[in-house]
Amino acid sequence: MGLPGHRRTSSHKRRRASHFALVKIDLRVCSKCKKLLLPHTACKFCGSYNGRQVTKAPAVKKAPKAAVAPKAPKAAKTAKAKK
Ligand SMILES: [Zn+2]
Repeated sequence: MGLPGHRRTSSHKRRRASHFALVKIDLRVCSKCKKLLLPHTACKFCGSYNGRQVTKAPAVKKAPKAAVAPKAPKAAKTAKAKK
């Protein structure tokens, strides 16, 4: 059975524990549907990235709300017009 070769001093423990802290996730707001998403990723709710429609939006298609879909294209048009 293995035994610790040397004593772990308090400073050794604290130095190791200095990397244990959790990092807060950096979230951005989707320009189209205003939901939170990770930066540099396509929105998983509306499928847009940087104002463009990149992928299909499975979350929006499954949603029964019809009012959500018409709002999204308007935001995309304004984003393109600004460029
Ligand atoms: Zn979105």
